[in-house]
Amino acid sequence: MADCIFCRIVNKEIPSKIVYEDENVIAFDDINPQAPVHTLVVPKKHINTIMELEDYEVVSNVFKAIKKVAEIKNIDKDGFRVVVNHLSKGGQSVFHLHFHVLGGRQMLWPPG
Ligand code: AMP
Repeated sequence: MADCIFCRIVNKEIPSKIVYEDENVIAFDDINPQAPVHTLVVPKKHINTIMELEDYEVVSNVFKAIKKVAEIKNIDKDGFRVVVNHLSKGGQSVFHLHFHVLGGRQMLWPPG
């Protein structure tokens, strides 16, 4: 989609710090990181939200990429969190399905 910022990153029309890429998925560092490691794993195919996801092969491709990102960022042994935000109450701001990979520090929830 022409007016989608993540489609523009997929198409290399705007720069990003690419961590991993294959034919189905691109992963790049979040511009406003919320943890020492904060990488977005994005299917190249445009899907607005998780509720519009119908092709479950996308999920398989994304999770393969998440494992690669965890290894590349060296958080695979320590632990990390994967987050999908959905619509306004879920905190979604970019309407191209993406998975946040957060790590490098203890996550605050759940406590302890
Ligand atoms: P969400 O709020 O779940 O939709 O997440 C969107 C994320 O995209 C936010 O964490 C933003 O910081 C991030 N973001 C927005 N524009 C860019 C960009 N050009 N490059 C990297 N990350 C971005």
